[in-house]
Order: sequence, then C-alpha cells, then structure tokens
Amino acid sequence: MSTKTIMPKSTILETALFNLEQVAGRLGVDSQFMEKLSEPKEVINISANPLLPSGRKLSFKAFIVRHNDAMGPAKGGIRMNHNVTAEDITGLAMEMTWKTSLIGVPFGGGKSGICVDAASLSAADKEAVLRSFTRAARRHIGPEIYIPAPDMGTNEIDMGHIRDCIAYSSGTSITDGCFVTGKPVILGGIVGRREATGKGVVYSILAACKNLGIDIANARVAVQGFGNVGSVAAFEIARCGAKVVAISDIEGGLLNTNGIDMAKLAAHISQTGSMRDFREAETVDNNSVLTCDCEILIPAASQSQITKKNADGIKAKIIAEGANAPTMPEADEILNLAGKCVIPDILCNAGGVFVSYLEYTQETQREQMTLSQVESRLKERMDTKFAEVLNYAQIKMLNLRQAAMDKAVSRVVDALEARGFLP
Ligand code: NAD
Repeated sequence: MSTKTIMPKSTILETALFNLEQVAGRLGVDSQFMEKLSEPKEVINISANPLLPSGRKLSFKAFIVRHNDAMGPAKGGIRMNHNVTAEDITGLAMEMTWKTSLIGVPFGGGKSGICVDAASLSAADKEAVLRSFTRAARRHIGPEIYIPAPDMGTNEIDMGHIRDCIAYSSGTSITDGCFVTGKPVILGGIVGRREATGKGVVYSILAACKNLGIDIANARVAVQGFGNVGSVAAFEIARCGAKVVAISDIEGGLLNTNGIDMAKLAAHISQTGSMRDFREAETVDNNSVLTCDCEILIPAASQSQITKKNADGIKAKIIAEGANAPTMPEADEILNLAGKCVIPDILCNAGGVFVSYLEYTQETQREQMTLSQVESRLKERMDTKFAEVLNYAQIKMLNLRQAAMDKAVSRVVDALEARGFLP
C-alpha cells in the first residue's frame, strides 16, 4: 500500500493509518483498495469571515473530510477547536468509516473541523460561527452526501442552528430528509441521542465484564473527560452498581478510593457549574486518574491520552475507549502485552452513530420513536456487535481492536468491490 502521498502531521491520522496497515498485513487486502482507503475521498477547505453579534470580525478556517462513502453518505461529527487540523479531521473521518461499517449502519465516514475556540465564544457568537460555516458548507451537507453531528466543542443546540440555517436558506420549515443528527428533540432530533454514546460505552463494558468474569457491582471505575460521553458513562456505570473512584476534565481530576457520590457531584456541578472544589474527593492531576487503582478505565476526553509513557502505569483490566483514538499504537502494544482488554473506539463509542442512524431513518420516514425503542435497539446492537467481535477475536486469536478493524475494513472492501471499477 502507499501512504506516501499523505505526510501525517497528526497523531490521530498516524494512529488510524497504523491500524489500517495492520489490517492490510493480516487480511492481505488488494493494494488497489488499500490505496483508496488510506486517502480521503474528498477534503473541502473553507474560509469564512463573519461579523459576529459582539461586533468582532472573525476569520476562521474549517474542513470537511469525506473519507469513504462506499456504504453510504459520510457520517461524522463537527469538532470545534482552535487547534484542529485537516490531518486530524482526516484521521477521525477514517475512523468513522470503520465505525459505521462495524456497527452495521449504511453510512460511510466523514468529519468536520472548525478552527475556533468554542469555549471563548458567547452563545450568540457561536451561533453566528456555525451559521457561517453551514452557509459555506451547504453544498457538501445533505442526506445523500454528508450528515454532521456533535463532536468535541459542539452540541445539540449547535445542530439545531445548523438545521435551521439549511431550512431557512430554502425558505422551508423543515429539510427534505435528514441533514444533521444530534438535533434538539423538538426540532426532529431523537430521544436518547445525547446519552447514546455514553450508554453504548457502558453496554460494551458490561459485555466485557461478563466475558472476563468481573462483577460490575464490585468494580472500580476511572473516567477521563466529563463532557457528553464521559459524564453519561460515569452516571450510567454508577447506576449499574460500579464505584466511580476517579474523574477528570481539562482542568484536573477528582479521586475518592471509596467511590465518588455521583448524586452529590451532580448537585455540586449544577450549583457551581464545575467539578472544582468538590469537597468529597481529593484533587489530583489528570495522569493520576488514568493510573489509579481500578478495574475499568474509560478514556472519554480526547485523542492520544494513553501513551508509551503512562501505559505501563495503567492498572485497569478493561480500557473502554469512549474517546476517539485515545490510545497511541505503542501504548496499545504495552496494554496488550500486559493482558489488558482494550475495547476499541470503533466498537466502544459506536452507540452514538447507531442512534444517529435511528434519527436519520426517523426523519426520512417522518416517524417518531420512543425512548424505550431507541434504548432497546441500542442495547441489542451493542451486545450483538460486541459478541461478533469477541467471537471473531477468539477464533482468529486476535485482540479486540484487531478483530474489530478486520471486520470493519473487510466490509468496506466488500462494498467497494460490489460497486465495481468503472465510473
Ligand atoms: P465534550 O467536548 O463534550 O467533552 C470533552 C471532555 O473532556 C470535557 O469534560 C473536557 O474538559 C475533557 N477533556 C479534554 N481534554 C482533557 C484532558 N487532556 N484530560 C482530561 N479531560 C479532558 O466531548 P465529547 O462529545 O464528550 O467527546 C469526547 C470524546 O468522545 C472525543 O474523542 C469524541 O470524538 C468522542 N466521541 C464523542 C461522541 C459523541 O456522541 N459526542 C461519539 C463518539 C465519540
């Protein structure tokens, strides 16, 4: 395979390409397909210069990457961060191709990045940035092209503004089909989408515990990242009886070896707006959360958090990748040699894109699904896919990441082959 045309400056892209190369070696995938899969199908560069409601004139760059659409329109969230690069977005889009393939929804992989510090914007300024991005990106978004969703730095309110911007530009109340998922329920979003990724993470942990004979009621859990994915996963796993002993966010961590009282933490956050100064836990740094004594670690913050420097110190038996690409390849090797069970991101956090698919079908069919329908379909899909990956791993004597990648990539290759070779 040729990866020479891409010069990865991004660890996310490097990790994604590394994992793909491993599949090529194991499955002997035709070099023609590997060349196709190691490059994005399309990269769109956007520059915008909105005048914000605050009076500030902003110039920003944004990217949309459609990595592969052999199985359907590209699907993937919008990351809003001043440091995001086109290479990062390419790596994340590649990951989405494997995730949608593995979880069995008729989508390809895509991702967007908006190079703006979301946290520095007022609500009105953020809305203006998103509307500006949407107008510029309008030709590249649609139910048959690319369907965005929330990712780091964006949320369901933002998806509501994107949906409104698209409907507004055609002078209609609604869009014809699903242009964006993760919208507010009142605008055609689906109940349970906000919690779907975090809950899916917990369902995959429960399946791994069952396989390893770990009793969840006696398990201690550490969670890195307390945003959409990490907070839902932490509350949900506590509800299953586990003890959450450590939690972190970008500002630092909390540790209580007897278990953090999640109800009290929730009350503290709603009163103060942050985890800081929570008296019933010790304040620790981020690395102490990753390496604390526990059975289960959920990295749910950002990429490249588990490195060769800290992998040795990780005590958890199960590492459930709530975040995308949190484990660097060298660290992955250390964890595997130490006999850890790493539930790979493309399986572990695929609950979000699965429920996005339900939102897509609900909107396309002008249907309404109930929360219990959404939750039972999510649980059933996560359990089935975990069992399929585990079974394949056991038969082929692979770890879960290798098994998940082999299954995901071979389905995409089958789809490429089925499409044929002529334009
Ligand atoms: P978010 O922006 O809601 O939350 C991110 C959290 O991580 C915040 O609490 C932030 O303070 C914390 N954080 C950032 N850097 C950190 C660090 N170095 N140490 C500790 N905490 C840190 O984002 P999110 O939507 O929860 O996404 C988190 C991860 O999950 C990302 O990798 C994202 O791509 C992935 N993911 C999200 C979804 C989804 O549905 N939102 C789906 C699949 C995967």
